[in-house]
Amino acid sequence: MQIDLHTHSSVSDGTSAPAELVRSAAGAGLDVIALTDHDTTAGWAEAAAAADAHGVVVAPGIEISTRHRGAGVHLLAYLPDPTSPLLVAELDRIVAGRELRVPAMLARLRDLGIPATEEALAEVSGAAVVTGRPHVADLLVRLGVVADRDAAFAGYLAEGGPAFVDRYAADLTAAIGLVGAAGGVPVLAHPWGRESRRVLDTPTLAELADAGLVGLEVDHLDHGPTERAELRRIAADLGLLVTGASDHHGTGKTGHDLGCETTAPEVWEALRQRARDNGSPLAPFGPG
Ligand code: AMP
Ligand code: ZN
Ligand code: FE
Ligand code: FE
Repeated sequence: MQIDLHTHSSVSDGTSAPAELVRSAAGAGLDVIALTDHDTTAGWAEAAAAADAHGVVVAPGIEISTRHRGAGVHLLAYLPDPTSPLLVAELDRIVAGRELRVPAMLARLRDLGIPATEEALAEVSGAAVVTGRPHVADLLVRLGVVADRDAAFAGYLAEGGPAFVDRYAADLTAAIGLVGAAGGVPVLAHPWGRESRRVLDTPTLAELADAGLVGLEVDHLDHGPTERAELRRIAADLGLLVTGASDHHGTGKTGHDLGCETTAPEVWEALRQRARDNGSPLAPFGPG
């Protein structure tokens, strides 16, 4: 049983449409994936249809943009009720913040002499419901300014870079509460990746566990062997589940192939049980 609980489609900043992503998951021999686009459930319906067609179980999820003590933290939410009014309102607020930020980033780039227009961005972001810095990165690649997304972040878009513009994100502790109240299961994505490592120390993880956090995504390419061992120890101490996932973005993120990191079947079962216990109205899409 191969289970990959963190993937993105072109509804956010992945490069494959939800149905194509599910087809690729079947091709990669995966039994279960979670679709966890940034801040949106817009890809769920297409993924649900593809789950049946390709015989892959698809767990509906979201990767929510949050902040804790000034640092960006990504929170995975599995099986939350997508009609929960408080959750919907928070996601709408985050997406609105993203939409405000895009023109500001393009203006910064134009100030640098780069012809970055909204029209050109729309050509690269295509079907995306939620726009992000990776789309602006794709535009810089298209314009011949940089070779790839990584170079675009390094030169322009990373925090502190010349075209970086901050945006609204949910409070982390509040978001954990919202996900739980919506029947969902909150798991910290790549806790010791990029920005979040500087705020997610052991006492903080203990506080978040008290606030309703259920798991840590330990097996992620952002974590090396030492970090994984340490995070496993912390998870065991705090009674948190340990997950693993690719954080696949199609061709948008190299090395993150579908199924390159996986979650144990008993952990997947425990996550589903937590969703049932929380009163989630959802079951995973597809077979079984
Ligand atoms: P956004 O949510 O629009 O702020 O963009 C965040 C996305 O950009 C995430 O999916 C990250 O994978 C990606 N990202 C963030 N920082 C970097 C970086 N330094 N290099 C490459 N990708 C990055
Ligand atoms: Zn992403
Ligand atoms: Fe993330
Ligand atoms: Fe992600």
